[in-house]
Amino acid sequence: MGGQTVAVRWSMPPSAQWRYCPLCRGVLVGRALDGAVHPYCAACGFVYWERPAPAAVALVRDGEGRLLYTRRRYPPEPGGWCFPGGGVEAGESAEEAAVREVWEETGVRVRVERQIGVFSPPSRGSFIAFVVARPVGGALAAGSDALEAEWFRPADAPPLCFATHVAALATWVRQERAVR
Ligand SMILES: [Zn+2]
Repeated sequence: MGGQTVAVRWSMPPSAQWRYCPLCRGVLVGRALDGAVHPYCAACGFVYWERPAPAAVALVRDGEGRLLYTRRRYPPEPGGWCFPGGGVEAGESAEEAAVREVWEETGVRVRVERQIGVFSPPSRGSFIAFVVARPVGGALAAGSDALEAEWFRPADAPPLCFATHVAALATWVRQERAVR
């Protein structure tokens, strides 16, 4: 490796770009199985089944009715405002991932109150669990993934950069009205 540093890929490349079998180093070829083409190793039978990447996002509401936003440092949508969240790691529940991501991105400790729902736009290959949470500690400070972290009243909030976040916010508002 010679000590060279190559920029980290923060997202999984499409499986069509995979070239070699991770088990036996055989060449991967496309093979139609169950109606879709998957990378397949003719030497050992390995198949890569591409899956959406699960993520968790929190709508964190404080006692004044403000919501917690972050401004993204990295693609997709760098510079855009959205609710804090990120990828679910192995061994985590969606709720645990949401708590960790809010802490990492905003410095705020939260407790999850309930789930809003799962949003899974097929074109993005994502699968996002949205939860409602409330702050229980910490101190607002943008983490390394975020340019800014800020509380906004609904009337003052910047536009959300992801359609899924817009949809989850609308769903949450409908759910809150239905409870009253
Ligand atoms: Zn193989």
